[in-house]
Amino acid sequence: MSNPYDDPQKPAGKHEISSQPEENKPDKKLLAKKYERVHNVLFLVDVVYTLVLIAIFIFAGKGGGFSQQLADWIAGWCPNYWLNIAVYTAILTTGYMVFLLPLQFYSGYILEHKYGLSNEKIGSWFFDRIKSYLLNLVFMAIMAELLFLLLHYAKDTWWLWLGIIWVLFGIILSNIFPVLILPLFYKYKPLEDKELARRLITLAERLNAKILGVYELELSAKTKKANAALAGLGNTKRILLGDTLLKNFSHDEIVLVLAHELGHFYYKHIWKLIFFGGCVTFGGLYITGLLLDKLVSVAGYASITSVASFPLFLLCMFIFALVTMPVNACFSRMLERQADLFCLRETNAPQVFISAMTKLADMNLADEEPHPVIEFILHDHPSIGRRIKMANQFAQSES
Ligand SMILES: [Zn+2]
Repeated sequence: MSNPYDDPQKPAGKHEISSQPEENKPDKKLLAKKYERVHNVLFLVDVVYTLVLIAIFIFAGKGGGFSQQLADWIAGWCPNYWLNIAVYTAILTTGYMVFLLPLQFYSGYILEHKYGLSNEKIGSWFFDRIKSYLLNLVFMAIMAELLFLLLHYAKDTWWLWLGIIWVLFGIILSNIFPVLILPLFYKYKPLEDKELARRLITLAERLNAKILGVYELELSAKTKKANAALAGLGNTKRILLGDTLLKNFSHDEIVLVLAHELGHFYYKHIWKLIFFGGCVTFGGLYITGLLLDKLVSVAGYASITSVASFPLFLLCMFIFALVTMPVNACFSRMLERQADLFCLRETNAPQVFISAMTKLADMNLADEEPHPVIEFILHDHPSIGRRIKMANQFAQSES
C-alpha cells in the first residue's frame, strides 16, 4: 500500500509530447524501451546489493558477524533489552539507508533528469529522502519491538499475532495515508476547475460512489509524470488527480481517468489488496517461523530472542517478498483490468480511453509493450499496449 498512485509509475515525459510530430514517435518508443531496460537492471542490482549487504552483516566474521558485534557494543553501554532493540534497529536502518543512497540517487534523481522526466531540485529530493528515512526508522523500530515482544511471550504463535497486527496496521495506514503521510511529500487541494469538478461529481453520483472529494495533487513540483489514484479508507477516502494530468489531459480524458478510479472504489479494491496482502504476509511469517530457529543456530546467535538475529527475520521476509512478487503483481493487474473494464462500460468511450492511454505512455515514458516475463514479474498494471488492445476489443464488441 506504500504506493498511492494508481496509473503507471513508469515516469512521464515532456508535456508537449502528445503534440509531437508522428515521425518522432518511434524515437520516443525506443527511448521508453531503454528507460524500461535501465529500470529493470537497477531493480536487479538493488536486489543483489541488498542480499549481499545482509549476508555480509550476518555471516562475515565469527559467530554472528557484524550484527553480533553491533549488538554486543550496544549492550555494553545500554543495559535495557528493549532500548537495545530500538538503538540496534535505528543503527541498522541508518546504515542501510547510507549504503543504498547512491543507488537511490541515481535511479530517483539522475536518471529522471537525464530522461527529461523531472524538474525537482536536488535539495527537495534529499529532503524527501530524509522524511522517508525517518518514517522507516519509526516503522522498523515498532516492528522490531513487536517481533521480540512476541518471540518472548508467544514463542510458538508469534507469526500469527504479528500477521494480525500487520494487517491492522495496514488498515490504519491506509486510513491515515492521505491526511498524514501524503502531505509530507506532496501538497494537494480541492479541484479548482469548477466545470470539471461538476462533471466528476455528477459521474460519481451516477455510479453511487460516496467520494469525500476530488483533489488536485501538486506533482509538477517533482515530476513531469501524470498520475491519479484512489486513496484513503473509510472517512478519508478521496480521489487524487495529479496536476500534471489535469494540465495535459482533456476534460473527457480526465472524466475517464476518474471512472477508472471509481471502478477501484466500486469493487472495493483497497480492501481486497489489504486482504490479499495480509494472506501473503501470513504465509511469509509462517515460513519464517518454521525457519528462524534453524537459521539462528546456523548463523551462530545465542537464541531467537538475541537482538543480533533481527536481520535474519528481515532476510527471510525479503526473500519471501521477492518470490511472491509475481503473485502480487498478477493480483494487482487483475484489479486494474477490472477497473479498466468498468471504466469502458460506464463511459462507453473507448476512443477517449485509447487517447488517454497513449498520452499517459508519452508523458510517463512507459514501454507500451514490455517483455512478457518482465511484465509478469514486475508490473502492477497491464502494459499500455494491452490496455489499448482491450479498449479496441470493447469497441468491436459494442459495434
Ligand atoms: Zn487503477
